[in-house]
Amino acid sequence: MHPGHAQRRSAAGSRGSSGTADRAADDAHSAGDGGSAGLPDVAGLLAIAVADIGGAERPGQVQMAAAVQRAIETGEHLAVQAGTGTGKSLAYLVPAARHAVTEQATVVVSTATIALQRQLIDRDLPRLAAALGPALGRAPVFAILKGRRNYLCLHRVKSGAPEDPAEVLFDPRTVSATGRQVERLHEWAAKTATGDRDELVPGVSEQAWRQVAVTARECIGAQRCPFGSRCFAEHARDEAGRADVVVTNHALLATRPSAGSGTRARRRRGYSTRSRTGASTSWPSR
Ligand code: SF4
Repeated sequence: MHPGHAQRRSAAGSRGSSGTADRAADDAHSAGDGGSAGLPDVAGLLAIAVADIGGAERPGQVQMAAAVQRAIETGEHLAVQAGTGTGKSLAYLVPAARHAVTEQATVVVSTATIALQRQLIDRDLPRLAAALGPALGRAPVFAILKGRRNYLCLHRVKSGAPEDPAEVLFDPRTVSATGRQVERLHEWAAKTATGDRDELVPGVSEQAWRQVAVTARECIGAQRCPFGSRCFAEHARDEAGRADVVVTNHALLATRPSAGSGTRARRRRGYSTRSRTGASTSWPSR
């Protein structure tokens, strides 16, 4: 396949690149309007989003957005390969946001890299939500969901981590450096609103972080935990459950097919798309 060429895995097979923009636009216009009467179609929303960031229409992007939209409508899986400069993020985020808002569903966007997660959360989704809000009637709500060990665990902070036998063998200078980082983490624990490790600047060593975080397996469960109601990981999951678009990673999606027990998607079977950069978009079937 060539850059800018989107392919849907269906009886229709692959499609040539000639005339793709016009046809894709037609596809977008004709691809289902259930529950979205009166709202702009995907092509229209994409045009709004592109104009908002000062960009120009790109045929490959229009084609990809139409393919994603049609995959959502038909429930078919979709694999897309598109080159740099296609504008792939908007091509899947626009139909995803439209579907989430019109169907009151949660769409899960799963990425292979933290860098892409950050790009989506810090740049693409805030812009998109602001741009599409007026056209959709409200701004799409988005959230990021990470594995539990990425959030500070208040129970571990208060109760202390089990002793790590390996630490005994460490150079005392290393231990004291780790100790200072752990001390800083305890101070941060009293201030942070999210407990998200990525918000701690500068960061700390893995060894220090392990003193204040737990894996899903190590968590004693929010029901039993005395800090369950204040737990950062649980709050992140709750937020994800209320969001229209949830950004997560493949590992978490693999262990939790709907990217978290709180998402609306959990209740229904989902479908997904995958792009060349490793971003996947999943949505619940109707
Ligand atoms: S519920 Fe689990 S992750 Fe949250 S504070 Fe309690 S033990 Fe830690």
